[in-house]
Amino acid sequence: MKTIIEPFKIKSVEPIRFTTKEEREKILKEAGYNPFLIHADDVLIDLLTDSGTSAMSARQWAGIMDGDEAYAGSKSFYRFESMVKRITGMKYIIPTHQGRAAEKILFSIVGGKGKYFPNNTHFDTTRANIEFTEAEAMDFVVEVGKHPEERADFKGNMDIDALVNFINETGPDNIPLVMITVTNNSGGGQPVSMQNIREVRQVCDKYGLPLFLDACRFAENAYFIKMREPEFKDKSIEEICHEMFSYADGATMSAKKDALVNIGGFLSLNNEELAMKCRNLLIVTEGFPTYGGLAGRDLEAVAQGLEEVMDEHYLHYRIRSTEYLGEKVLSEGVPIIEPPGGHAIYIDAKRFLPDVPADQYPGQAIVCELYNVGGIRAVEIGSVMFGKYDKVTGKLIPPPMELVRLAIPRRVYTQSHIDYVAEVVIEVFENRDKLKGYKIAYEAPMLRHFTAKFEPVGEIA
Ligand SMILES: *Cc1c(COP(=O)(O)O)cnc(C)c1O
Repeated sequence: MKTIIEPFKIKSVEPIRFTTKEEREKILKEAGYNPFLIHADDVLIDLLTDSGTSAMSARQWAGIMDGDEAYAGSKSFYRFESMVKRITGMKYIIPTHQGRAAEKILFSIVGGKGKYFPNNTHFDTTRANIEFTEAEAMDFVVEVGKHPEERADFKGNMDIDALVNFINETGPDNIPLVMITVTNNSGGGQPVSMQNIREVRQVCDKYGLPLFLDACRFAENAYFIKMREPEFKDKSIEEICHEMFSYADGATMSAKKDALVNIGGFLSLNNEELAMKCRNLLIVTEGFPTYGGLAGRDLEAVAQGLEEVMDEHYLHYRIRSTEYLGEKVLSEGVPIIEPPGGHAIYIDAKRFLPDVPADQYPGQAIVCELYNVGGIRAVEIGSVMFGKYDKVTGKLIPPPMELVRLAIPRRVYTQSHIDYVAEVVIEVFENRDKLKGYKIAYEAPMLRHFTAKFEPVGEIA
């Protein structure tokens, strides 16, 4: 086997800024030890998110010039619509400015008090949009998906028995729809098998429930299906996508992921009445149905990106480069969620820093050290992001996992960048005995991880 190479050459470059360790320590301290508050310019390799950080192709940039900015009926909309229809096979395609806007519109209509929405694992914006309507978001990922160190091919699958039990207990009348997130972002970017999607469809048919896909990483999921489900080894990615979407009645999509653009999203539906309601709400909050909060040029770039993302050479490189980083750090003993998922490597901070307790934020300690040592920006997904306080004792209630996510932007970094990231992670791991925990010096009442300020434990403020 020869080296898997980036399936593109570079036409336009963006310099990255080098800083010294002394400069970074000062920058991090001034940012209250919260990488969200660091200027992106002070980051060497930015692995904060894979959302909206893709490099666009020459053809996408050409589409930007070619975008039709007509208020109504723009030709860019029709190109976008026909591309989304080609992939999803769905009848009604509604553009939105990003994924959460599609969620907001959908759940404003089907949500509400006393309603329940099962999913393998809800992404945080999906959960927030459901809970905002006073409905409840339920997670039913398979048991193996909750164990970082256990390997399985489809750790994003829905637990079918748990789903059926829940429907029986709750009554199908209180469940407006069932959702599956492909790949399962919050569960480590783990894929969902076609077999599992079929089984969820059967359950939905039995109880008369619609099935929706949170399709943000549909192409990455399709690639995993091709690689890991023997039935699909000779099918094209587009054929696999068709089949995945064929089991769904609707889908929400953030184009900032698998449409390879910096902004955009959509809602696709088969039900005419629901589509009418969604469009009416879209006009109030997003815009006219042929642009939905986007410029015509953005719609062009999405249409082109959706075509490019299904290219097998691209997906091969994409999934392999994530796996490559995972294998490199694993070979030196760094604990991660196994096997590597599609869009990110998740370091298991509990096993990385077993002596730093949850209320001293082990994930945050690793995130800070990755920046100090190598100028790499990652994100804590643990007690900082999801920790709650006990109302009586005021003590931290930690979430089940303490993770650090290294998300890989699409088509942005080369293999030597990834080699460098692995070296930094390994260096931090080798010196882990020196790492100290952090305490929170300031926090906002909601979504505190964005703005919180920290102090190293033991330092006099
Ligand atoms: C990013 C994401 C969303 C929300 O999309 P935005 O474009 O960020 O609003 C929803 N679901 C999943 C699985 C995501 O990864």
